[in-house]
Amino acid sequence: MFYALKDPDHLVRADRARIAEKYYCPFCHAQVILRKGTFYQSHFAHKKQCLSKTALETSEHQDGKALLLMWAKAAGYFARSEVYLQELAQKPDILAKKKEQELVIEFQCAPLSYQSLCQRTTGYKQAGYQVIWVLGMNYRLKSKLDQKTAQFMHYSKKLGFYLIYLDVLEQRFEIDYALQMADLLELRYSRGYATDLNALKEFCQTDHHVSLAHLSLQQQKQQLLALESYVDKIKYRLRKQAYAENITLQQLFKANLSKRYYYPLWRTACFYWKSKIYLQYGEESSALAPAYIVHHFAYKFAFITIEKRK
Ligand SMILES: [Zn+2]
Repeated sequence: MFYALKDPDHLVRADRARIAEKYYCPFCHAQVILRKGTFYQSHFAHKKQCLSKTALETSEHQDGKALLLMWAKAAGYFARSEVYLQELAQKPDILAKKKEQELVIEFQCAPLSYQSLCQRTTGYKQAGYQVIWVLGMNYRLKSKLDQKTAQFMHYSKKLGFYLIYLDVLEQRFEIDYALQMADLLELRYSRGYATDLNALKEFCQTDHHVSLAHLSLQQQKQQLLALESYVDKIKYRLRKQAYAENITLQQLFKANLSKRYYYPLWRTACFYWKSKIYLQYGEESSALAPAYIVHHFAYKFAFITIEKRK
């Protein structure tokens, strides 16, 4: 692990630690040895085995929990790690209490299914806990949003859609906010940092004046260029349908391209399902109710599962 305690409230990173000092495991409180390496990254190691169950976890998860625990305490919470909540049969990474407020922080580094995520979040909320999901570096955003990451999105008016990361090595939260997507372009978002739990709270309470961006002329050109190669990959059936409507796929898609960014709710770019609606309903498609569109077209491509109406 890369962090150890110097005194009860003070975590030290291995590359800043000194051989002459004594350091302790944040979980089992046994004394640990500092290993300064030329060939490997400096780290702390137990003399024997860690007596805490966290020993089996990855270093990122272990170190992250130690940081979160320290920050929760510094923010005035009575905070503990690895407490088993019998009534929920769950063990949150951090359980923090302050007056009437009860907070659960989950630091997610490994993959988690949508079902487990819902089950755990609902369980905590029903028992009266506020839940914060914080992500590890495996979940870092790429040019496109995928389901495994999208399911952790939070939403607020002040930040728009956002994700909270913990960068263990830099010792800070990273907030990717104002997430938005556009047809055939890369995901767009802003990034902010917070050095502890209080700073994170402050960041989230600040109005960042989020709005959906319009595409620049340059981006519209880029979009049309990307459309060329996209059309080539389209299956025969859709091509045939378009042909029957007397329109080429190229024309159809182009007519449905959005000139602005939209909320990151869809697995597939909006122009695609809008085009499908057009092929099925033609001119009448503008008369379709939004709820009908969501349930019969858009929901199939949503990151967020909407229960299908019976
Ligand atoms: Zn230990």
